[in-house]
Amino acid sequence: MIETIVALASGVGRAGIAVIRLSGPSVRFGLETIVGGVPEPRRAVLRELRQPASGELLDEGLVLFFPGPGSFTGEDVAELQVHGGRAIIAGVITALTALPGFRLAERGEFTRRAVANGRMDLTSAEGIADLVEAETGSQRRQALRQAGGALERAASGWRERLAGLLALMEAEIDFPDEEDVPVLFASIRAGAEALLGEIEAALKGARSGERLREGAVMVIAGPPNAGKSTLLNALAQRDVAIVSPIAGTTRDTLEVHLDLGGYPVTLIDTAGLRDTVDLVEAIGVERARASLERADLVIWLEAEDARTAPPSLPAPLLRVHAKQDRADSPLPEGFDLALSARSGVGMPELLQRLEQAARQALEGGETALVTRERHRRELETIAAHLATVCAADEAAPVEFVAEDLRLAVRAIGRLTGKVDIDEIYDVIFREFCIGK
Ligand code: GDP
Repeated sequence: MIETIVALASGVGRAGIAVIRLSGPSVRFGLETIVGGVPEPRRAVLRELRQPASGELLDEGLVLFFPGPGSFTGEDVAELQVHGGRAIIAGVITALTALPGFRLAERGEFTRRAVANGRMDLTSAEGIADLVEAETGSQRRQALRQAGGALERAASGWRERLAGLLALMEAEIDFPDEEDVPVLFASIRAGAEALLGEIEAALKGARSGERLREGAVMVIAGPPNAGKSTLLNALAQRDVAIVSPIAGTTRDTLEVHLDLGGYPVTLIDTAGLRDTVDLVEAIGVERARASLERADLVIWLEAEDARTAPPSLPAPLLRVHAKQDRADSPLPEGFDLALSARSGVGMPELLQRLEQAARQALEGGETALVTRERHRRELETIAAHLATVCAADEAAPVEFVAEDLRLAVRAIGRLTGKVDIDEIYDVIFREFCIGK
């Protein structure tokens, strides 16, 4: 028996209003018991919420009812908008979960049910998770597209076409002696080539798509005492890093999330990159090296009293001369920028450079279809199978080519969470009169 799930849909903690959500077969019963009736679908009504056993008033609030299967989850759904006090939320949730057939929802369970009931596919569900996590405008726009089914629609189109190719292929296996076989083969190859082109185009945007979702990574590195922690604090406009004149104080990597012109950036302050005998510090140095490897930009900081030329790194480098308020000369040879985190000199220019680098790393990510490594992996699998199909000539065993197409269809099934063999059969039986 399917249970009816209950959860606080709004944030935890005191708030003006809290939204409690219910989904499942017993929602009507729950509403009758707690608010004395089921309101008209999709109309907000003001109701008293009462403890069923004692009749004690819990709160007064807005009640909404969304009948299945047209609801978010595909089941009957209700939303209770109550006052956001802890005691009210606890009282209403306890009263509901005490009813037969009710329990607390697990993480993501509402969306999970929506996927299970065919209201959306996995990629759209991921988009909903991204919407909740979005920290900047560009991430929000990306998540809205994904939740709106951008990849879902593309994938379902690819899937249909793949199934069509597979149907042609099956005909070739079933009727190998017919004259139109070479023609069939040519049209299968043409179809596979067109699909491959589209999937490769989607994969091209994968890097910026994934990067935008996760945020660009920028690392502040340089010799101890160059002013890295001070710079991080100035950029973050809050005290996240320990600033101290003693070398080696920053023993670990510290992260802050920044919004640079709508682009999300994770800024990492590294421990001073130097040989060290201190074990704790050595761990910090190791992590610093690791973050340097995956950085979109390394801000290499030096100062008059802390000079070490940057090592050669795979990431783009911005060489910055810090503590400029103390320096006599303007910009020393070989540096891109001079600044003082203390006086603020050069800070606007640095921010401009960082925003530029973020844009370079993330541009195109908003409209990218691929936003996760998971998507990329499956699309790469599909592309590899399609490439095999394209490379096959008439001498290739048709069963092998069919197998590649089948594996490509299966990868799309994993991508969208929909694996439906019947769908492929439908195409076969619709397009070919097997009983002839
Ligand atoms: P880190 O080891 O690279 O993280 O360096 P810190 O940020 O801890 O700074 C080392 C020392 O330099 C501290 O005493 C800071 O107060 C000082 N410092 C940092 N930035 C500036 C600056 O812009 N101007 C001046 N005059 N001193 C600074």
